Amino acid sequence: MAADDRKNLHVLIVGAGTSGLLIAQGLKQASIPFTIFESETTSTYQTRPREWGMTLHWGSNHIASCLPPELVERFNEAYADPLQKPDAATGLPIHNGKTGELIMEMAAEKPYRVSRKKMRNLFKEGIDVQYGKQLENASVGEDGKVKVEFKDGSSATGDVLVGCDGAKSRVRECVVGVAAAKLTNVPVSMFNFPYKFDAELSSRIREENQLFTTSIHPDHGTMFWLSIQDVPDPNKPETWTFQVLQSWVDDTVPASADLTTFPGRLAFFKSRSAEWAEPWRSAGLAVAEGTQLPLDQGTYWERAAKWDNRSGRLTLCGDAAHPMTPHRGQGLNNALQDSANFVAALRKVKSGEVGLAQAVQEYDDEVLERGTLEMNISLKQTLFIHNWETLMQSPMVKMGMHQAKKE
Ligand SMILES: Cc1cc2nc3c(=O)[nH]c(=O)nc-3n(C[C@H](O)[C@H](O)[C@H](O)COP(=O)(O)OP(=O)(O)OC[C@H]3O[C@@H](n4cnc5c(N)ncnc54)[C@H](O)[C@@H]3O)c2cc1C
Repeated sequence: MAADDRKNLHVLIVGAGTSGLLIAQGLKQASIPFTIFESETTSTYQTRPREWGMTLHWGSNHIASCLPPELVERFNEAYADPLQKPDAATGLPIHNGKTGELIMEMAAEKPYRVSRKKMRNLFKEGIDVQYGKQLENASVGEDGKVKVEFKDGSSATGDVLVGCDGAKSRVRECVVGVAAAKLTNVPVSMFNFPYKFDAELSSRIREENQLFTTSIHPDHGTMFWLSIQDVPDPNKPETWTFQVLQSWVDDTVPASADLTTFPGRLAFFKSRSAEWAEPWRSAGLAVAEGTQLPLDQGTYWERAAKWDNRSGRLTLCGDAAHPMTPHRGQGLNNALQDSANFVAALRKVKSGEVGLAQAVQEYDDEVLERGTLEMNISLKQTLFIHNWETLMQSPMVKMGMHQAKKE
């Protein structure tokens, strides 16, 4: 069995986001064959409008086991600000949105802001991604081979499929069924978009903190986040891009607000911003008329439960395995650990130490336990920080951004 597994170990990776690409890099290093598929085309992969930054902290410990040393050396290219010093921040400052007063700093282990786009571009170096391949179906045949079928009518076969296709994962639906894969809505919504401010305001925001700063408004619990997303020229603050995020509990939205239209969203965003202390007030009010704000609802996989991995043939990684609300900054960090663990599991299969079924089952059990724990803690964080009464009982006070442990 293990001898066959060692020979037949072609891995199909669906999704060339951070987790899929890190797996590809790790398998390449281990000389394990793979093919990686991505639904976006070569051009939309670079131009998609939804990009954001992420706080990388404890998860960075899992990168070096997969990336070749020359890319580890260049990891600062993925930073929102490539010149960022390792000690640029020790944690996330959280302010009272009405007064500007600092409430606390949410502790973190070596926090960096990384750009989702730059990280993908670094991780894909040397990897042959099959673009324009939107997965429609995945199945395991009687011969034990995995077949993946794409929207363009093409298909491919392999020995193991790992779904790295994000929060709305089609692979998850193929593994557990559409009903069981469904996400649960959380009654918290957000505007999350990139924006460039003028030089004075850009400098003022970063004087608060080089990476990020956030605030909660005591009157309605709305969170207003500002973080650096791109610094093309450190000497020209007007070239910097910031990530702007406002999130709120849905029932705090006044009946007069119309979030179904772009003008209605912007009016709501600006009316809330006008209630803020500096620099959030200026940032919110500076957003130009006509800006189209995307509206996202918080979601997580409440139905997560042990899945049938078909003797180790089908599995999940990253947001596909544990989509979570973003307020504790854990999704990427867990995705990186998943990727490193998956590569380590397949290395064991290749060396003959264990068979595929056992290796993937052990991987799955750990991902499910860690992912479910974090989805629930992140949910608590999301619900608690959007309410002034419960803010100080939220997980951030006790555990900061540190990794959750079962005990
Ligand atoms: C506003 C916001 C802020 C966040 N902040 C943080 C943070 O500070 N720290 C943190 O740790 N995490 C954060 N996260 C979470 C983080 O962004 C994700 O956990 C991480 O990007 C997941 O990576 P992934 O590789 O699993 O999925 P993705 O990066 O979503 O990649 C999935 C890939 O699969 C492709 N794909 C999708 N469907 C198909 C298909 N059917 N066929 C083929 N390909 C497909 C997609 O095009 C995409 O390229 C944040 C999330 C949000 C929304």
